[in-house]
Amino acid sequence: MDFLQPATWSEALALRAERPDALPLAGGTDVMVDLTFDRRRPAALLDLTRVPDLQEWALEGDRVRLGAGVPYARVLTELAGRLPGLAIAARTVGSPQIRTRGTVGGNLGSASPAGDAHPPLLAAGAEVELASAARGTRRLPVADFFTGPKRSALAADELIAAVLVPVAAGPQQFCKVGTRNAMVIAVTSVAVALHPDRRAVGTGIGSAAPTPRRAPKAEQLVAEELDWAGRTALDDGLAAEFGHRVAAAAAPIDDVRGSAAYRRHALAVMARRALTWAWDDLRRAA
Ligand SMILES: Cc1cc2nc3c(=O)[nH]c(=O)nc-3n(C[C@H](O)[C@H](O)[C@H](O)COP(=O)(O)OP(=O)(O)OC[C@H]3O[C@@H](n4cnc5c(N)ncnc54)[C@H](O)[C@@H]3O)c2cc1C
Repeated sequence: MDFLQPATWSEALALRAERPDALPLAGGTDVMVDLTFDRRRPAALLDLTRVPDLQEWALEGDRVRLGAGVPYARVLTELAGRLPGLAIAARTVGSPQIRTRGTVGGNLGSASPAGDAHPPLLAAGAEVELASAARGTRRLPVADFFTGPKRSALAADELIAAVLVPVAAGPQQFCKVGTRNAMVIAVTSVAVALHPDRRAVGTGIGSAAPTPRRAPKAEQLVAEELDWAGRTALDDGLAAEFGHRVAAAAAPIDDVRGSAAYRRHALAVMARRALTWAWDDLRRAA
């Protein structure tokens, strides 16, 4: 197996074009598991850990441009204030070791329906930035990035450069259930983001459909019904209906981790709680 180790972004893109048989490697917390269990045997690894551009984040207007190689541990220590939903999700990923190695770009690269970064990115309205040596850079909404279970819009000659996440204008929440409390893949998960600046609500659902997805009918209901001006207490019936609509937007399956019925039930409960917590945070901040 060849080991390709570019030192710059342009070198990485050139190698990606030359060697479509090379598997990109970031933190390796998915890739090395696949190699160890012989699920993958690529002709080459394209190690991206020496490319400085991927390890950086910066403000770009009212968004954070998060380099694909920034690990969860840095999202927690450096970005919890600006990207609270992603930080809450990052805190639930694996163990300290996994959070130190594992990256948001790698989570996107794997495109698992259960990836924990995906629901908060959907709820925040993030965009993924992809790049190739031949065609330059393109950006697409994260909702369009996922095309199927572990499949994405990433072309064979492209790399994920960054994800652009709007700086939170209001409270955000993330909830996940697993078979135990830590070091566990989500049975299902949900993220909620309040956008009081434009009186909108964002959602993201994980591990309950072929791809991570939003719940547009739930978003629309609460955006219209919430008392944005007076910020009175959240109506229990509205919160419950929000939960039902989030569950209805899912298309879960029965598998070893949980049944479809359990996933729908858990989604309704978690979505109701996440909205309630976020709304209470907004009221306290007023
Ligand atoms: C013990 C353990 C616990 C875990 N717990 C969780 C959890 O709780 N929640 C969760 O979501 N995940 C979990 N994971 C999975 C994994 O840690 C995450 O998916 C992580 O985000 C992967 O990031 P990485 O940098 O390690 O990616 P890598 O393993 O390096 O790469 C993952 C995929 O992305 C591709 N890739 C990486 N970077 C790029 C790029 N810049 N451009 C194009 N393609 C790229 C790779 O080719 C590969 O296909 C766990 C894994 C382990 C081993």
